[in-house]
Amino acid sequence: MPEAGSGDAVRQTGAMENADPDAVRTEVRDWLAANWDPDLALVEWRRRLAGAGWAVPSWPERWHGRGLPAWADEVVADELAAAGSVGPPVGSGTSLAAPTILAHGPDALRERFLPPTLTGEVTWCQLFSEPGAGSDLAGLTARAELDGDEWVINGQKVWNTSAHHADLGMLLARTDWDAPKHKGISYFVLPMRQPGVEARPLRQMNDHASFNEVFLSDARVPHDHVVGGVGDGWRAALTTLAFERRFGALGRPRFSSRAGRALEEARREAEAHFETYKWYPQRAGRADLLLERARATGAGADPATRDEVARVLSMSRVGRWTAERARAALASGRTPGPEGSIGKLAASHLARRAAAAHTMITGADAMLTGADSPLDGVVAEIIVSVPAQSIAGGTDEVQRNIVAERQLGLPRDPSTDVGLPFRELPRNG
Ligand SMILES: Cc1cc2nc3c(=O)[nH]c(=O)nc-3n(C[C@H](O)[C@H](O)[C@H](O)COP(=O)(O)OP(=O)(O)OC[C@H]3O[C@@H](n4cnc5c(N)ncnc54)[C@H](O)[C@@H]3O)c2cc1C
Repeated sequence: MPEAGSGDAVRQTGAMENADPDAVRTEVRDWLAANWDPDLALVEWRRRLAGAGWAVPSWPERWHGRGLPAWADEVVADELAAAGSVGPPVGSGTSLAAPTILAHGPDALRERFLPPTLTGEVTWCQLFSEPGAGSDLAGLTARAELDGDEWVINGQKVWNTSAHHADLGMLLARTDWDAPKHKGISYFVLPMRQPGVEARPLRQMNDHASFNEVFLSDARVPHDHVVGGVGDGWRAALTTLAFERRFGALGRPRFSSRAGRALEEARREAEAHFETYKWYPQRAGRADLLLERARATGAGADPATRDEVARVLSMSRVGRWTAERARAALASGRTPGPEGSIGKLAASHLARRAAAAHTMITGADAMLTGADSPLDGVVAEIIVSVPAQSIAGGTDEVQRNIVAERQLGLPRDPSTDVGLPFRELPRNG
C-alpha cells in the first residue's frame, strides 16, 4: 500500500479495469438478496456492507472497497435503492473527509477513521475558512504547535457548516511560519467535542443557521492526526475542495417506507442531517417550480415571462447534461478537476436566472414570507438563498480563475508572495 500523500490509494487495480457493469449489478443483487436484513441496527448493517466492499466499491479492497472503477458506486447505489436497502451516510464525512484520507493517508488514519465514517458512527465538518482567509485560503493563520504528544491549536474559523453538531473537523492550520505560504500548512483531524473548541451558530438572511464561527483556544489534536504529512496539508486540502465542487449536487436519499430497524434509523439520520441543508434546494433556484408557478399564477400569458421560463428550463436541462458528462468522466476513473468548476459556475448562473424568473412570475409578493405568502415562503427563501450558490465551495470568480489558469492555460493571477516565508508576507489584520 502506498504511504501518505502518494495518491495511489485511489487508483484502480489493473484487474478491475475490465469489470463489466452488468456483472457487478448481478453480483451485488445476489449479495443483497442473501445479506440485506432491515431488522439489523443501522450500524451493524453498514458494517456488513463495508465488510463486503459494497459501501464504496470503487475504493481499494484493503480499504473496505472492491477496487472497481468509479461507475460501480452508482451501479451499487441503484441496486441498494432497488432492494429497499440503505447505503453509507450522506454528508461531508463520506463525500469529503473519507476520500481525502483515502487519497493522502497515512494508513493509521485510514484504519481509524474510514470505518466509522462509512457506518455513520462519526460525523464531520470542514474547518477551512477564516475571517481573513476564504478565497485566499492559503493565507490562513490558525496555528498548530506541537506540545509533547499533542498539537495545540489556536485561531478562528468561520462559515463552518454543521460544526455545532459534528464529531470531527477537517482542520487546516499553519505549522511552519517560515515556510512559503502553501508549504507551512497541515491538515488535521480535530476532535470537536473538547473544551478548546467552541462553535457559535450564525443566523443567515434566510433565517436558517446552518453554519458557525468556530473558536479554537488551546484545542488539542493527537500528534498523529495529520492527513498527508506535516507541512503537506495544502495538497490534501485541494483534494477536499475538488470533491466539494460536486458535493452540492448530492441529493437526499430515498428510503423504502417498509418497517425495520435499519430503515427507521436511516430515516431518522437523514432527517437530522438534512435539517441543516433544507434550504439548499432553494439556493439552487428551484427551476423545477417555474412551469407550474407560471401556469398557476397566469404569468405564463406574458410573452417575456414565458420566454424567460423557457430559457431557464433549457439552462437547467443543459446543466444536467454537463453534470452527467462530469459524472461520466469520473466513472472513467478521472479525479474531479477543473470540469467541476464549469459545472459549479453553470449552477450559480442558473440559480440567479431562476430566482429572477420567480420574481417575474410572483412580482412584489416574492418578498413576503410566512403562512400566506407565495408557496408558504419558498419563493422568498429562493430569493435570499441563491447568493450562497456562488460563494460556497469557492466563489464564481475563483472558479473562473481555475478554469482560466488550469484549463485555458492563461497567465496566473499576479502574486507577490511566491517563495517568501509566510511570516514576512503582508496580510489582513
Ligand atoms: C453555504 C455556505 C457553506 C459554507 N460552508 C463552509 C464550510 O463548511 N467550511 C468552510 O471552511 N467554509 C465554508 N464556507 C465558506 C466559503 O468557502 C467561503 O465563503 C468562500 O471560500 C469565499 O470566501 P470569503 O467568504 O472569505 O470571501 P472572500 O474571499 O473575502 O471574497 C470576497 C469577494 O472577492 C472575490 N475575490 C476574492 N479573491 C479573488 C480573486 N483572486 N480574483 C477575483 N475575485 C476575487 C470573491 O469572488 C468574492 O466575490 C461556506 C460558505 C457558504 C456560502
